[in-house]
Amino acid sequence: MNRLQRPSRRDVLLGTLLLAVLALVAWINLPVVGRVFDRQADRVAALPAASPFRVGQRVLVLSPHPDDETLCCAGTIQQAQAAGAQVFIAWITAGDGFEFDAVLTQRVLDPSPQDMRSLGNLRVQEARRAVAVLGVSPGRTFMLGYPDGGLFRLFTTNYEEAYTAPHTGASAVYVQHALTPGAPYTGLALETDLRRVLDRVRPDVVLAPAPQDFHADHHTLSFIAMRLMSARQQEDRLRFWVVHGGLEWPVPKGLHPNLPLTLPPLAARLPWDRVDLTATQEQRKLEAVNTYQTQTRVLGRFMRAFVRQNELLSPGPLPEQGQAPGRGTTP
Ligand SMILES: [Zn+2]
Repeated sequence: MNRLQRPSRRDVLLGTLLLAVLALVAWINLPVVGRVFDRQADRVAALPAASPFRVGQRVLVLSPHPDDETLCCAGTIQQAQAAGAQVFIAWITAGDGFEFDAVLTQRVLDPSPQDMRSLGNLRVQEARRAVAVLGVSPGRTFMLGYPDGGLFRLFTTNYEEAYTAPHTGASAVYVQHALTPGAPYTGLALETDLRRVLDRVRPDVVLAPAPQDFHADHHTLSFIAMRLMSARQQEDRLRFWVVHGGLEWPVPKGLHPNLPLTLPPLAARLPWDRVDLTATQEQRKLEAVNTYQTQTRVLGRFMRAFVRQNELLSPGPLPEQGQAPGRGTTP
């Protein structure tokens, strides 16, 4: 643009838009925003505390991607183990669909399918290290290795016919340490793997994403978990969590260990129970988050915003109607 020319309407519009975006980003990230949510904090304080875990209980965390188990439940996992329960983690995908992540970790501008598979294997390693920080040994983890971003397709168009993941080019499980290496990317194979995990773990409590979670992999896994647990007549063993809760939740972004984790806007009406974390448990959660270096480079402020005074678990997948059964209890 010639400097002497007046800015065009398009430039003015773009400038205004840019300012609006910057203002929004600043608003979302300012710690002072926390005060706006005082009312939210009061709501959290009024929630019932989740009942403690018991010796000998078996707890299974269903995690769509490496890092979800830590973001939702790192404090809960620590408390379960401190109470003498055994904790198992099942990752459904290796998180191999995040191209921008591969750009940074593989140092290439246009990641190839092989770069994306390398990212998948890197995230498998990170996941095992992260849960080791929380006290879960690799022997109690299951990497299923289905396609990141593809779970909805697996349960719709690709229940029986293998899906080809656009980022990795894979149509079968390729990651290291997978539960069933070479399993086709179908809904049927994924359900078969999950049934194997349930048969091996025989969980008393299953921590699964809530159906309100915005991410398609998360809410698809929620429906699968409900279906499998209902078939066993054990749906009352499910406890639900949210990671993608809408409206930039959790706000403010970044590390604020002295703030509560407020209710996720998309699932604010679930019958939430509060899990209060000690300072030591928060610190351990932060260490586990920091283990995910491929993720924290891009999403660090989002991820560290989950290191809060509490976590949230709902005994039911739907908003409360009257008195919800099982409120505030673990089986
Ligand atoms: Zn996820």
